Amino acid sequence: MTAICLVVAGASVGPLALTLRAGSYASLSHVVELKVMAAEEFLSRGRMLAQQVTSRTVIRDKLADFHEGRMTREALADFTRDKLQDSLGLSTELQGIARLDAQNQLVVAVGKAFVWPRGAVPAADSRGPTLSPPEMIDGVPHLVVGAPLFSRSGERIGSDLLLINAQRLLNILRDGQSLGDTGDIAIVGKQQPPRLLIPFGQSPIQPGMSLPEDDPVSRAATAAVTGAPPTIDSTGDPILVSAALPSAEWVMVMRTSAAQATASVDRLVLVVTLSALLLALFGVVGLMLVLRPLTGSMIVHTNDMRQQIEVLERTKAELQERTHQLAQSNTDLEQFAYVASHDLQTPLRNIVGYTQLLERRYKGQMDKDADDFITFIVDNSKQMSRLINDLLEYSRVTSQAKPLLPVSARAAVDMALMHLRTDIEKTAATINVGELPRVIADQTRLVSLFQNLIGNAIKYRSPDRPVKIEVTAAPISPTQWRFSVADNGIGIPAQYHDKIFEIFQRLDPTAKAEGTGIGLTLCRRIVTRFGGSIWVESQPDEGSTFHFTLRDAGSISGDCPPSAG
Ligand code: ADP
Repeated sequence: MTAICLVVAGASVGPLALTLRAGSYASLSHVVELKVMAAEEFLSRGRMLAQQVTSRTVIRDKLADFHEGRMTREALADFTRDKLQDSLGLSTELQGIARLDAQNQLVVAVGKAFVWPRGAVPAADSRGPTLSPPEMIDGVPHLVVGAPLFSRSGERIGSDLLLINAQRLLNILRDGQSLGDTGDIAIVGKQQPPRLLIPFGQSPIQPGMSLPEDDPVSRAATAAVTGAPPTIDSTGDPILVSAALPSAEWVMVMRTSAAQATASVDRLVLVVTLSALLLALFGVVGLMLVLRPLTGSMIVHTNDMRQQIEVLERTKAELQERTHQLAQSNTDLEQFAYVASHDLQTPLRNIVGYTQLLERRYKGQMDKDADDFITFIVDNSKQMSRLINDLLEYSRVTSQAKPLLPVSARAAVDMALMHLRTDIEKTAATINVGELPRVIADQTRLVSLFQNLIGNAIKYRSPDRPVKIEVTAAPISPTQWRFSVADNGIGIPAQYHDKIFEIFQRLDPTAKAEGTGIGLTLCRRIVTRFGGSIWVESQPDEGSTFHFTLRDAGSISGDCPPSAG
């Protein structure tokens, strides 16, 4: 983990440190540039003062008069002294003025007396002010600005030398705010070998001291090119930054210890490194703190999911197994029901037959109990026979399923009515059959369906009114018909509307009407096999309407719907 932190910290801080170091050199360079600009401003102010003094035409004309012999030196000096005295008021930094004639002889001096250095007087061909190196006068640095004087005809007639207090320039150079603890600036004269005009530190300003050529400061001064950005020599310690002053043959050289130059950067880099390390550490720890529970919960989650999937798969497998077993046992049961009911039919028919024979031959010859027993046996045998027939019918729906084909519903109803004709005649039932379509069905089962429903309508008739039954069909979609068998019988309470379709369910098992409770179950099985559904609408004593849907004969697709039901 430590290695990871170090790599992360290194990778993030390395490029940053390089950028910051370059930035810190750039900022040193900016400091020097700003100092150069401030020094330049000071020097140009000195030159401007000189120009202001020399440009006063009245006193310049007097000098011209003297130059051409039209005025005595004394008269010129008297005239000039007052005028120059006025000029001293141009600036507090202007400490003294000396006016020289064309031969560089002093005409008059005002203000602070000073000895001007060699080179302070502008050369004969000089057109503008010249600057002499700073000198200490009364412990204060001073500059002498020399300005040539020209007659109206452009003839050189003398010079003015201005003594300017350069404390402000020194302040500009020494202002440590932007230099840091070890930063320091010197002014070096550009001549070869370079001369130290204003030395580093608080050293007193002495007349320009020559520097050895191989001195780093000499090299820095030589490297500086007027107008170019400061050059930086960071090969040694201290670092040197040098820049030429555009208006003077001076070079500003700043030195600062390498440690100082990059101190803030190093501090920053250290802070950033530590922060990066801490961040990386916290990041890793944080990641671990966050990831561990996350991973943990993911693992738990995954395990849960795996377990759930396993449970689901087990359940599915069990379900499939059970469905398979159920289908098997259904088949077995149906097989059994069919075989049992089929095989039971013959012995049962014998029992019924022989019991009826017994009844016919011996009724009234035995006692009353024996007669009742015989009647009971006959009734139950008949009921058993009906049950077996109905069960057989029920199991035949699937065990002896025939292909579904377009058949006439009307023909099926007519056949059912024919089967029911005895009951119909007996009850004088009125049965109206509407126009019925051809549907997809198995003719035999369709007859059975109508027979059960119409039979029930007769069976569960109301004692209060003649039986009236309507068989109709209406389309509910381009491919579907809804058939309705409506009666005016006793009706069915709402709570039994579903129950009556379950096997062996009879609303009143003790009712007079014979039945097995299989009829409607059979109906549902038949309709389901035909691809439809069946339901009842009924209210007690208001009759019942059994609805079921069947597919139109034109919609046959060849697919047989599931035979379950
Ligand atoms: P069942 O052999 O008893 O007729 P079904 O399955 O045909 O058996 O009918 C179940 C029960 O539904 C019947 O016992 C009867 O109570 C009720 N039922 C069926 N059809 C009608 C009807 N049209 N009117 C009133 N009740 C009916």
